Amino acid sequence: MKEAGKTVGMIGLGNMGLGMASVLVAAGYTVFGFDPAAESSAKAARIGVTLADSAGEVFAKAPIVVLSLPTAAIVDKVVTGPDGVAARASGRCVVIDTSTSEPQASRRLAALLSKNGHGFLDAPVSGGPSGAASGKLAMMIGGAEQDLADARAVIDALATKVMHVGTSGAGNVAKLVNNLLVAAHMLTTSEALKLAQSAGVSAEAALGVINAATGRSAISEIHVPTWVTTERFDSGFSAGLMRKDVRLALAMAAEVGQTLPVGSLIGKLWEESRHTVPDEEDFTRLAALDPAGAKKETSHG
Ligand code: NAD
Repeated sequence: MKEAGKTVGMIGLGNMGLGMASVLVAAGYTVFGFDPAAESSAKAARIGVTLADSAGEVFAKAPIVVLSLPTAAIVDKVVTGPDGVAARASGRCVVIDTSTSEPQASRRLAALLSKNGHGFLDAPVSGGPSGAASGKLAMMIGGAEQDLADARAVIDALATKVMHVGTSGAGNVAKLVNNLLVAAHMLTTSEALKLAQSAGVSAEAALGVINAATGRSAISEIHVPTWVTTERFDSGFSAGLMRKDVRLALAMAAEVGQTLPVGSLIGKLWEESRHTVPDEEDFTRLAALDPAGAKKETSHG
């Protein structure tokens, strides 16, 4: 049973957005959703999302709108385009942008929306599609206290770890720093396991040691045993999105004048790997211990 007055919008119903929408439906919200991809929309309709014909319709119907979109450019288009909420002078709307985006873009949108009394939080997330679908995301937030207070109930439904990092853009700064480490750990953990294998210790045995000792990370504890050694490679996070995050982290470093000798190498390795692991493949394929086997599976989709 829906509770009266609990209405929320969800724009972008992909791997992450669909899971978030399902959590909000389960929490009793009427969820108005929009995604131009027919497949995403069909899945959303099946889990109880009320489909809208446009992003504009979502903004018109919901006082709080969650975004889960591929890039900052798309977020900008959705919020400031003819269908967006930026130019609307009445009816306060708070946008929770869970996309991994660019700090400067988030700051610009927050300033623009505030002119018409709207709120904008950069609220990127960690936890993958399973965290999204279980309401157990970690969310790092940049933005004004009042916007956060107004959006709090929705945020608490989506995330179990909510960190208000600072003013607009701070959520994306923290997310990009985190994901640069994720990209690094994927490469270094794979290298370490290949070294163990070459030196006569199985990847499984070495992984057991790493996870009981000090070389561990979320990649060694979760990603490698779940998606790499099993050769499932279906974590739901694409190599293209990982490359985007590395590019954004390096662009941020250039902007603020921070040199990143290791980060630059990580960026180079991820870019070069697009020949063997294209953007649409799962990012865990970068750690494949048997690249021949992983590649063979890739060619069969
Ligand atoms: P995805 O590609 O699966 O989903 C994105 C969705 O946005 C697609 O369904 C697409 O059709 C839709 N879309 C594109 N343009 C649109 C528009 N103009 N209006 C409405 N919808 C539009 O991507 P994802 O994996 O769900 O990731 C979404 C965001 O979350 C990205 O910014 C990503 O970096 C971030 N993220 C992903 C993960 C993960 O594990 N997948 C984890 C943390 C953060």
